[in-house]
Amino acid sequence: MRVGTLVLLCALVAVAWSKPVWKEKNRGYKNYRLVRLSPTTQDQIDFLKRLENTVQLGIDFWTPSDHPGTHNIDIAVPPKTYRTFIRLIEVNKITYKVIQEDIQSLIDTETTSNSKAREDKIKSKACESQGNWKGKDKNKCKNGQVAVATFSNLATDSIVGTYARHGEINAWLDAVAAESNGLATVETIGQTYEGKDMKVLKIGEDGTKPAIWVDAGIHAREWIAPATLVYIIDKFLSEYNSRPELNKYTWYMLPVANPDGYEYSHTSDRLWRKTRSPQSRRCTGVDPNRNWDSHFGEAGTSSNPCSNVYPGTAPFSEKCTQNIRDFINDHKDRLKMYLSFHSYSELWLTPWGWGREKPSDNDEMMRVANLGKTAVQGVNGKSWIVGAPPDILYAASGGSYDWAKEKAGIKYAYTFELRPDGNASNGFVIPASEILPSGKEVYAAVKKVASELI
Ligand SMILES: [Zn+2]
Repeated sequence: MRVGTLVLLCALVAVAWSKPVWKEKNRGYKNYRLVRLSPTTQDQIDFLKRLENTVQLGIDFWTPSDHPGTHNIDIAVPPKTYRTFIRLIEVNKITYKVIQEDIQSLIDTETTSNSKAREDKIKSKACESQGNWKGKDKNKCKNGQVAVATFSNLATDSIVGTYARHGEINAWLDAVAAESNGLATVETIGQTYEGKDMKVLKIGEDGTKPAIWVDAGIHAREWIAPATLVYIIDKFLSEYNSRPELNKYTWYMLPVANPDGYEYSHTSDRLWRKTRSPQSRRCTGVDPNRNWDSHFGEAGTSSNPCSNVYPGTAPFSEKCTQNIRDFINDHKDRLKMYLSFHSYSELWLTPWGWGREKPSDNDEMMRVANLGKTAVQGVNGKSWIVGAPPDILYAASGGSYDWAKEKAGIKYAYTFELRPDGNASNGFVIPASEILPSGKEVYAAVKKVASELI
């Protein structure tokens, strides 16, 4: 038995007596640290893979481990197991540094920024009938009246640029469809495990046009993804008719692909990733982006139901993935492209996620992806990395875009990892001020690739 493994076993006995971290309700992240590891050997990677399955430590891999030397691995560590964790890392001679001392402070900053963004929206709206609002940090309209912020109408006014709740996003979809003069319609594609409606906005007419599917938020905590898609929907509603690259397609957009998890990340645990279906006596949820019928249960998954990459008992065990699968299967003959928004690391992921084999049309996959990358770069200078996950990051099987290409036969299938980049120290938790810049760069990419599909 290697020393590292022995220390791991001893550490587990010690932490097994303490209350499991995952049982906490309305959990906060006070004094949780984000630790960045730079493994350089396969032994170190192998050790980290074992650590990833050690749920007793309560650690959370924000970026998974795969091969040495290619990228940093960021892990959130609770205060109660921090010393044990660091001892394990040092015994295995893995270089590390603490890049965030208190994850709760990131969450607090994000909450404040979102409240401000929402307040600005309301004041702007409140002034519309009274003369225009004076702008940020001023509580008055141009005519001198006070702009009173009341949030009750936010959902149907505008949630663009904010981190909105699932109910608000659904209400907003209904409202914009009703005001679109027939351009957009809402279709409920099913309900989640908890009974929430999954609403898709269709932009453009049904019939013979080719179609494009876009979803976001299949991982609950990746809030920038639904917010970016809401921004894009808003742009589509005003620009679809005048842009040939958009109006030659019918678009289907699902801003929240995992509503149960997304709501839980708002109400109870900001860093919740999975669905909310019970899986074992003490653990809840399946990783819905490991739950698709494409190399199910292979690379980048764990058979432990408490793991964040638990794929479920079988492909499509989750209601949310079933609903998307059924809708896509019903429309697959017309679908030319499947896009799925995640965060983070600023990556344009090409098929396949599960392994190093390449699809026969990989050159075309890469050509279009690289054009999209250039379009992103043209907006704010962000330099995304293009490639298949096993080549640039880590292998992940059972993913939605692999299924879309392999099983539904949709030629172009991509996953985006949005802001921030892989060197950032805030990961999933970024201020609302990043929503509009993210929306602009991703909208530019979507327009560009839509004009390039063959
Ligand atoms: Zn994700």
